[in-house]
Amino acid sequence: MTPEILNRTEQLRVKLQTAGYAYYVLDNPVMEDAVYDRLYRELQDLESQYPELVTADSPTQRVGERPASGFVSVKHNISLYSLENAFDMAEFAKWEAGWQRNMGSKESAEYICELKIDGSAIALTYENGLLVRGATRGDGDTGEDITQNVKTIRSIPLKLNLENPPPVVEVRGEAFLPIAVFEQLNQEREQAGEQLLANPRNAAAGALRQLDPKMVAQRKLDFFAYTLQIPTTTPATELHSHLASLEMLERMGFKVNSHRELCADAAKVGEYYDLWNTDRLNLAYMTDGVVVKINDFALQQELGFTNKFPRWAVALKYPAEEAPTRVLDISVNVGRTGAITPLAHLQPVQLGGTTVQRATLHNGDRIAQLDLRIGDTVIVRKAGEIIPEVVRVLTDLRLPGTVEFKMPTNCPVCDSVVVKSEKEAVLRCNNPSCAAILKGSLVHWVSRDALDINGVGEKLIEQLVDRKFVNSVADLYDLTVAKLITLERTGEKSATKTIEGIASSKSRSWSRVLYGLGIRQIGNNGANILTERFPSIDLLLQATISDLQDIRDVGLETAQSVYNWLQQPENIALIERLKAAGLQFERSLEVNNHTLSQTFADKTFVITGTLPTLKRDEAKDLIQSHGGKVSDSISAKTDYLLAGEKAGSKLAKAEKLGVKVISDAELIELLNT
Ligand code: NAD
Repeated sequence: MTPEILNRTEQLRVKLQTAGYAYYVLDNPVMEDAVYDRLYRELQDLESQYPELVTADSPTQRVGERPASGFVSVKHNISLYSLENAFDMAEFAKWEAGWQRNMGSKESAEYICELKIDGSAIALTYENGLLVRGATRGDGDTGEDITQNVKTIRSIPLKLNLENPPPVVEVRGEAFLPIAVFEQLNQEREQAGEQLLANPRNAAAGALRQLDPKMVAQRKLDFFAYTLQIPTTTPATELHSHLASLEMLERMGFKVNSHRELCADAAKVGEYYDLWNTDRLNLAYMTDGVVVKINDFALQQELGFTNKFPRWAVALKYPAEEAPTRVLDISVNVGRTGAITPLAHLQPVQLGGTTVQRATLHNGDRIAQLDLRIGDTVIVRKAGEIIPEVVRVLTDLRLPGTVEFKMPTNCPVCDSVVVKSEKEAVLRCNNPSCAAILKGSLVHWVSRDALDINGVGEKLIEQLVDRKFVNSVADLYDLTVAKLITLERTGEKSATKTIEGIASSKSRSWSRVLYGLGIRQIGNNGANILTERFPSIDLLLQATISDLQDIRDVGLETAQSVYNWLQQPENIALIERLKAAGLQFERSLEVNNHTLSQTFADKTFVITGTLPTLKRDEAKDLIQSHGGKVSDSISAKTDYLLAGEKAGSKLAKAEKLGVKVISDAELIELLNT
């Protein structure tokens, strides 16, 4: 074992202990749950590799935290365990294989899937049918007596609805704060200038620990029961499965979450997990995963417990959007605009359902702000479809030997001196013949949203530039089959296809050509807006900055960028060559057989899923050619969600926000009415 491992283990232990205290005792977390989970997993892995590193006070050795002072401690009759985590279905499969190995069998079992309510676990004791005690989980063995507070929760029965109640009944469940109540509470706190509550879970845990029950009542907590334990069962109360116990809890008068489902095997569990990963957005309370339990009590009993978890249950957490990982190296990338972007190379990490190995660091100033060094542990975030980025450095997990990174003074590709303008933090290579800029411009020109040229990919572009066959996008149109077959791995057939692909780009619309030119600030929506207003390049060339700025959605920065680009003689020369090659620099009156109209003027669309009759690009063209806008992300300002098959989180969000959802057939119908 190296000193580095020893050091890392100790640092992780301290970090997790501090976070655990803030979370369990102070109800005021200092890091995201997903980050805690990953660091915890790293510590667990190190401890299982080097068992001599396990200490009695390691966070892996205990459940929760010792109870806080202020309440009377109570010893639980039956311990409250934590749950083992799985972060995706592959980990679930490992968990399943684990219990099957324990049983010496490969048989599947029936599972019950329940939503993992993100609240605070409480244990309720009923004697002869009457509620006598409510307690927090605490460290699993000892909790706090919060009976008076528990009694303020309306969905917890004070008396069981049972004819001959057993002498003792133990019920466990989750006390939680509905999202609406949480938001209202925070609004009130904001108005009163008080500190805001971090999240509904900590708000619920904090409410349960209020010393004044009247304050607890004001918080309007709710409760879902999920475990029933009857130490001395009678034939009338004997239960054989988890599902039966949940039904019994319901009969006793408890609120049990109705979204539970009996699943025949792991595949069905996967379906439930996928469904709730999106549908959870529609729930009135927070969930942080799915709890999967083996249904059969006899099998549960055989499997038993580890010192922390039941072996018959697992928490399948939803994919995290943030996770910790290590920065292995930093490199710089030169983009098509000459921007020099530092890129972090990461130890691979699962994020939002994919493996992430690189994250953008934006620019040198950002690296300095983050205080990032090569070798550091960082938090990376991947929200929606945005490129992953490093959001924070966990400097207290820094080990000796981390290396500072300096942005280069020269372009790593063409070696010309890089410049930094006063207005922006980005360093740029301004050499127009820099191979990286040229390659980037070509990749952009052939991309799907621009000229969509089939058969010209990044590998071919590399060769074309390196062999000096192409020095500008216009040179693509001078290529011949004879020239292409001199390249590596290019036969006559593929060369012919490439030339055909290039030729077919001559029929692409003026808007796509404008976008393809790669003028800074002009995305495909911007190109669309400009070509609507200026139906030809000649008209656009005559536009002044104020003409450009007069257009809806065009700001000064964009207007200036377009204007300046059009003033450069080399750009005019490029336009002339492309025109001569036959590319479209005017708007045709017919686009995709639809006469141009303004049917969708001022309307914003988002497209999701696989459309049955239209390709995504076709739908986009159709909307834009009728004056509409297409955006990537959904908000309350979106007018329509055009949804196809396998529409995921965007559909759920649209429904939540009340955005109208339409099919591609309905889109065409809108155009025809
Ligand atoms: P857990 O939250 O992963 O799982 C166990 C808990 O799940 C139970 O105690 C119960 O409260 C809850 N639960 C909800 N629905 C359930 C259901 N249907 N059936 C059974 N249980 C259900 O484990 P834990 O030990 O309570 O806490 C560990 C978790 O707490 C970590 O995974 C982490 O996400 C979070 N945590 C975060 C920080 C932080 O700094 N952010 C610190 C410590 C812990």
